[in-house]
Amino acid sequence: MDSEELKEQFKLRLSGVEDGTYCYSIECNKEFFELAEISDVRDGELHLRVEMRKTEKLVDLNCHFEGVVLAPCDRCLLPVTVPLNFVARLIVKLVPVVEEGENEDDDDIWVMDENTYELDIFHFVYESIFLELPHRIVHEDDAEGNPTCDPEVMRKLSEMEESQAEKEPDPRWDALKNLKLD
Ligand SMILES: [Zn+2]
Repeated sequence: MDSEELKEQFKLRLSGVEDGTYCYSIECNKEFFELAEISDVRDGELHLRVEMRKTEKLVDLNCHFEGVVLAPCDRCLLPVTVPLNFVARLIVKLVPVVEEGENEDDDDIWVMDENTYELDIFHFVYESIFLELPHRIVHEDDAEGNPTCDPEVMRKLSEMEESQAEKEPDPRWDALKNLKLD
């Protein structure tokens, strides 16, 4: 599947679609995450089920996400599997004329022309996943409270920190500089 085909899945046809409820299934996999570039997430297996209820004046979308994404650990940078299971709702009001500035206030309520051919939810999906990511992503501690991060990487990181510390300016130099200024 190329990137155009992938993005096509997120375009829900509205024009000529009878009022009613429709369901769509979309797999957000590695190809999707590489394209979407959500934060540092580059892989995952997230199943998205979209339930679209359409009336003459409204499109009501319930997007249910379930699965995992892989994001780098804040400590050792190796991938952490982050489970996600959440629902994001989007309401689209269909109006004869969209007034300027009508779409600026709310991310979850859109106002669109009633003759809109299709609804593109790619960015809504992107934002929804991004908002669900935990602020801190780290490998969990084991039963004894020790981090389960890669020990080899952790050793290298602490070595780097030590050599950084060695490069800190010698406080005696600062003292000398102050003497000169006086
Ligand atoms: Zn880690």
